[in-house]
Amino acid sequence: MTLLEIKHLNKSYMLAGKEKVPVLSNVNVKFESGEFVSILGESGSGKSTLMNIIGGMDSDYEGDVMVQGKTLREMKEIEIDAYRKDKIGFIFQSFNLIPHLSVLENVMIAMQMTDNSKKERTQRAKEILTEVGLKDHMMKRPNQLSGGQKQRVAIARALSNDPKIILADEPTGALDQETSEQILGILDSIAKKGVLIITVTHSQRVANFGSRIVLVEDGCIKEDQFLKERNMSVKETTEKKGKNLSFASSFKMAMNNMTLNAKRNILVATGGAIGILSVILMLSLGSGVTGYINDQINSSLNPLLVDVVKTADKGEVKRQEGPPMPELASEPFTEQDISMISGIKNVDRIEKVTTITGKSKVVFNGKNKELSALGTVTDSIKADNVEAGTLPNENQVLLTASFAKSLSSEETYKSLVGKTVNLYINEMDERNQPVTIETQWVVSGIYDQEDMGPMSGAGVYVSYSTLENAYSQQNLVLQPKQINAYATSQDDVEGIKEAVDKSGFKSSPIASIMEQVTTYVKMASWLLSGIAGISLLVSGIMILVVLNISVVERTREIGILRAIGARKKDIRRIFFSESALLGLLSGTIAVAVAWVISLVLNNILFNTFGVELIQLTPVYMLFGIGVSTLISVVAGVIPSSKAAKLDPMESLRYE
Ligand code: ADP
Ligand code: MG
Repeated sequence: MTLLEIKHLNKSYMLAGKEKVPVLSNVNVKFESGEFVSILGESGSGKSTLMNIIGGMDSDYEGDVMVQGKTLREMKEIEIDAYRKDKIGFIFQSFNLIPHLSVLENVMIAMQMTDNSKKERTQRAKEILTEVGLKDHMMKRPNQLSGGQKQRVAIARALSNDPKIILADEPTGALDQETSEQILGILDSIAKKGVLIITVTHSQRVANFGSRIVLVEDGCIKEDQFLKERNMSVKETTEKKGKNLSFASSFKMAMNNMTLNAKRNILVATGGAIGILSVILMLSLGSGVTGYINDQINSSLNPLLVDVVKTADKGEVKRQEGPPMPELASEPFTEQDISMISGIKNVDRIEKVTTITGKSKVVFNGKNKELSALGTVTDSIKADNVEAGTLPNENQVLLTASFAKSLSSEETYKSLVGKTVNLYINEMDERNQPVTIETQWVVSGIYDQEDMGPMSGAGVYVSYSTLENAYSQQNLVLQPKQINAYATSQDDVEGIKEAVDKSGFKSSPIASIMEQVTTYVKMASWLLSGIAGISLLVSGIMILVVLNISVVERTREIGILRAIGARKKDIRRIFFSESALLGLLSGTIAVAVAWVISLVLNNILFNTFGVELIQLTPVYMLFGIGVSTLISVVAGVIPSSKAAKLDPMESLRYE
């Protein structure tokens, strides 16, 4: 069977989309294994076009190209890729080696698409390189070689897949005469082993080297001249079924390219990292601040607490400037109210609370001090904040530090603990007659004023029952102005609040105000992250631009890979891997820097304020790396498919 047969081949180029310029017209020719054919013609006569068609790089023609009886036109795209990979070896005038791969790797890249094990491939590549005289240069990069050596690498690469046909477009065009002859000698010896060698040349001297000269003029075969008997030692090579470029190989190539352009890639990744970095820092700060506020609230305010007030109009609790003081607008609770509230589902216990405002004074050691407010002890009065002594029991009082100081002195106020004070409360009885409640109570302790309960401005605290007893001595009934209901569990708090509101009472707004504050902080941190997110967009665009530049830069490399049989898919994978790697790198840099910044800032914050406000959690770290990778992969879609769509012939045309 004829190895290669071309029948009625016509080809024309469309110029600027309208004018048809014929390049090849009615080419009919047959080639057999072992021939060393020189296609001779002047520049522009259509030689390269013919080679591209034979090599399966160009399918836009009329007529037939048949290889071992199979018509190229009838093959699908992947079959053409496989044909290029398995049957064809390309050698170019400009060598077209991949600059960032070593000589050995340049040869092996074509073999990566075969079934052989890596060891076999390495061994075979070394054999071929030795055959073409490059035994001592296998680890060098192409730019460390002379022109003749580069062309030997190209020949070795073309041979690596054991092709049936080697297409060499002006293989000696860039070489001096002596080197040219060596290269032609190598090609001749390959032909002698049964490979069809087709070279293109415009030099009669070079053409004379082969076994047959096909003279092309203006796209037509003018002469077909057999110089020597063609080589007869045709060996039957076994049909091989090539594999495709593995994902690992594509990934390795991507890695390789990343390290080649290491400086640029690190710069780009760092640029991208700034966006991710600011986002995770903002989120971490937000969660730190929210956590801090929650801690503060929970330490001063029992999360189980629902404080209930009774308002005259049952409407909004009026609030002046400053902290809310719901008790000002509240009405006293009746026994019935109290049992109703303690009867609400999931209420564990209740606390009666009241504040006597502006009706009392304390007398001690002849000193007479008006008391702006007398408060009752609640759970929010914490033993931790007692400076000296203890919390009050029955018939005991707790003095705030400032009141104690006014009663005694700056230096001696702590000595009040254990002393008895007289406390007078001026009340009205049922008939609206003034009554004075007289008490003698022992000072149990001094309370650190700065950390008072959230709603009290009282100078003296006493337990509700002590106060109640003092009132009943004068036949007065003490009615609480606030009820603190404690939920069995935190999940019940909302339900209790609802029940309270339904009963016509009001739950104090303090807890919900605190809740609002944390919501605002959260919103602010998300907003800031959102703003930081804009820089993410910028980094995405940056990665897109860089990958696009990379595609343009590596047009040739892509062409080479396609010429030796890489599929579109393989090219896409290489670029896709690169963009993913870039994103991964970027995210990793961002997380590393965020971590360092959070350590430093937290240290400073801790030393100055005693809190660590930046909460960089593993979730945020993973989030950062994930988002960064996602963004670059998305940014890589366009360049990757652009690279995959590159026409291999076009990519290799510009020299
Ligand atoms: P050779 O290799 O013999 O120098 P080519 O096969 O490269 O010639 O080109 C043959 C003719 O086709 C030339 O006139 C060239 O300008 C034209 N040509 C080649 N490629 C293209 C193309 N992609 N579009 C338009 N014209 C082309
Ligand atoms: Mg040419």
